[in-house]
Amino acid sequence: MNNDCIFCKIANGEIPSSTVYEDEMFRVILDLSPATKGHALILPKKHMANIFEMDEVTAEKVFVLASRIAKAMKEALNCDGLNIVQNNGEIAGQTVFHFHMHIIPRYNDDGQHI
Ligand code: 5GP
Ligand code: ZN
Repeated sequence: MNNDCIFCKIANGEIPSSTVYEDEMFRVILDLSPATKGHALILPKKHMANIFEMDEVTAEKVFVLASRIAKAMKEALNCDGLNIVQNNGEIAGQTVFHFHMHIIPRYNDDGQHI
């Protein structure tokens, strides 16, 4: 837990969030500025800035969770497609330096160019 990290505080429940899933390793929240309806972020509870600091157990588990969330979203939101996006480093568009994976449901008429 990094006390200066907002996603550490959210992931560990110190700051309330719109949580859609939680287990011992991860919290899944809705993005504050959603690209589309249902845009969610998977946050590990353990602090790691990005993929360069990620251990392999977390790396495996995060993709298993992403696949489950994706299937649940397809069912619940009836989306037409879905993007999984994960930015590492400022040059790659990362703005919050606690690893997070974007799960972005896509709709035929959403007008987004992600
Ligand atoms: P990045 O550009 O680092 O890949 O994505 C950061 C994401 O975190 C953005 O989509 C932004 O809207 C979201 N975000 C930033 N701060 C907060 C917050 O306090 N709560 C939530 N739920 N999302 C946040
Ligand atoms: Zn953190």
